[in-house]
Amino acid sequence: MAEYVTADIAAAEVQANFAAVKARIATAAREVGREPAEVTLVAVTKTHSAATIGHAIAAGQRVFGENRVQEAFAKWPALKAAHADIRLHLIGPLQRNKVRRAVGLFDVIESVDREEIARAIKAAGAEQGRTPDIFIQVNTGEEAQKSGCAPAEADALIALCRDECGLPLRGLMCVPPVDEEPSLHFALLATIAKRNGLAELSMGMTADFEIAIRFGATLVRVGSALFGARDP
Ligand SMILES: *Cc1c(COP(=O)(O)O)cnc(C)c1O
Repeated sequence: MAEYVTADIAAAEVQANFAAVKARIATAAREVGREPAEVTLVAVTKTHSAATIGHAIAAGQRVFGENRVQEAFAKWPALKAAHADIRLHLIGPLQRNKVRRAVGLFDVIESVDREEIARAIKAAGAEQGRTPDIFIQVNTGEEAQKSGCAPAEADALIALCRDECGLPLRGLMCVPPVDEEPSLHFALLATIAKRNGLAELSMGMTADFEIAIRFGATLVRVGSALFGARDP
């Protein structure tokens, strides 16, 4: 665990960063005639310590994202026990053998990208009497190394999750290629969501969340702008 942990960040710094990011979200939303409250800030805490996360909770933040199941288990059970209103999102790739654990801890799984995972979530949810909300991750850039279903397969996976498995599918998520203009990717994700009647779009990170808001993001996943650079 220790090797994942970025040095603790001071409470005042975390607080100031949250205020700044929230102000930027509000400005970006108003610029396109949206209400700031339509955009949920998912604070991404991968590599950050429970102490740093505690400062965010003290600042009023309740929605968090982690990208690894094992790391999340090292930090979140105690924090969630202390704050019942926390909503924890899994935003990283999910392996079949970790589904049962993920279903037990996360409130939202944003990275569903294939039938096997959808069916495993369904089964684990039935077993545990708790099923997280889900998002389907779409690999809008069709990058070989990236998780997410291909855009051409999205409609079928949406139908499988929602209609056949009866999962609480809320929307779509994407992580555009790092070196491309993100707008086209955000627009594509919005188009797929719209034609399938899905309300939520998880898109936009530190580098591009304002652009994502312009294209309809209802969740932005922000790490570095809130907690500084991560230790590798
Ligand atoms: C790390 C991560 C983020 C946050 O990235 P920042 O650039 O630090 O804001 C968002 N989404 C996913 C899927 C991530 O893994």
